[in-house]
Amino acid sequence: MDDMQNKSEEYWKEKLTPKQYKVMRLSATEPPFTGEYYATFDNGVYKCAGCGETLFSSDTKYDAGCGWPSFWNAIGDGKLELKDDNSFGMHRIEVLCSKCGGHLGHLFDDGPGDKGGKRYCINSTSLNFEKK
Ligand code: FE
Repeated sequence: MDDMQNKSEEYWKEKLTPKQYKVMRLSATEPPFTGEYYATFDNGVYKCAGCGETLFSSDTKYDAGCGWPSFWNAIGDGKLELKDDNSFGMHRIEVLCSKCGGHLGHLFDDGPGDKGGKRYCINSTSLNFEKK
């Protein structure tokens, strides 16, 4: 089986664009309102830019006004890994792709109340949108 968790830095540098590498492997954040998908609301699925795993659906995407693609849930169980992140003097929950370990964004508790109250705040550059 292809072990996506143990790829070398060289593999990722070759596979990803420099911008994707910074976000997905070094946990950088793209500036708000600059990514490709924050204002995309077409029907389709969002796949991990690192490994191609389907992570989010347009069905759970909403406009949070924050400048990043925002979802109130993943497309299925086990797709995302959550990790405590205490960088920059604050506590946040980091969201990673379970399959390849790529950094996707952060999880916040200010999502839509009628949908469970979660906001998965995800970098556009970590995703590839596939229109239905
Ligand atoms: Fe992945």
